[in-house]
Amino acid sequence: MSAFIGKYSDELIKTAKYIATPGKGILAADESTGTIGKRLAGINVENVEANRRALRELLFTSPSALSYLSGVILFEETLYQSTAAGKPFVELLNENGVVPGIKVDKGTVELAGTDGETTTQGLDSLGSRCQQYYKAGARFAKWRAVLKIGPAGEPSELAVQQNAQGLARYAAICQENGLVPIVEPEILTDGGHTIEKCAAVTETVLAAVYKALNDHKVLLEGTLLKPNMVTPGSDSPKVAAEVIAEHTVRALRRTVPPAVPGIVFLSGGQSEEEATVNLDAMNKLEALKPWTLSFSFGRALQQSTLKTWGGKPENVEKAQAAFLARSKANSEATLGKYSGGGTTGDLASESLYVKGYKY
Ligand code: 13P
Repeated sequence: MSAFIGKYSDELIKTAKYIATPGKGILAADESTGTIGKRLAGINVENVEANRRALRELLFTSPSALSYLSGVILFEETLYQSTAAGKPFVELLNENGVVPGIKVDKGTVELAGTDGETTTQGLDSLGSRCQQYYKAGARFAKWRAVLKIGPAGEPSELAVQQNAQGLARYAAICQENGLVPIVEPEILTDGGHTIEKCAAVTETVLAAVYKALNDHKVLLEGTLLKPNMVTPGSDSPKVAAEVIAEHTVRALRRTVPPAVPGIVFLSGGQSEEEATVNLDAMNKLEALKPWTLSFSFGRALQQSTLKTWGGKPENVEKAQAAFLARSKANSEATLGKYSGGGTTGDLASESLYVKGYKY
């Protein structure tokens, strides 16, 4: 079946292609109010609107950092916020060539009769929400589907199919309303499985996702994929970045059509430095890669910045320097040209893994 062509098709293709510009990537700053609260609690800062806004302003006004970004994913509250001086964040991002995006899912719920497998909510009223977000300046969207590798053969066929259908329906609704959908089927790293197991599950999940996207007539040229990297489970011994790169690129080559302009990885609990080095290894790998391989990191782009800031105005400049260092490092990694130097002391090597992570 051929893809749906609507009034936004040309714009969707152009936006997706721009976000996938080599050398640039996405900052995922779309933590829900609950999730950002956990981050702020980690630095003893109260979870109130003023502090959430201050953190986002720090990120979006970091000198030069925006030149390494093509998109920022926002939470609904942030889409409508402004700098302390009164400039709307959307305007600030646009002026710097950064496309504003918006998280549109409403989190996960457990699938009855499974051992903690989930499906993602938010399809009801998604069309009208997308229209409002487009009016407010958003041009792309994110929907996070979550799968797990478990001892009873998880992910179950039910979870794979439900999440593929949800992602495809979400993608179709976004495209009807002018937003480029980031398709995010995250396979959690939790568990003691091997890298081969993760590769096999990633291939199965992505194959199901691309079948569903085709069934729903989604225009692949106007989408982006946000997958997990293929790694051993969190309880298994670590492997070298080159091994992760080889397994990840192979799984993607087997399942992601070349019509997709860009693949932007989530960091999934890896440390800042690990995520950068793994991305760099993929881009150094000699293999035909028909899409841009870049980043859409949340934790791995913000951790050292957050810790350096600590909620104190006098630390803003130092925190912005940390954010610039990580943004530049990841930009270099999208080109396979990272050679270290993105570290901010020990902060960049801290594991950011959280069991059963909720965004
Ligand atoms: P992490 O990079 O912290 O895994 O988060 C990215 C994201 O947007 C998950 O939906």
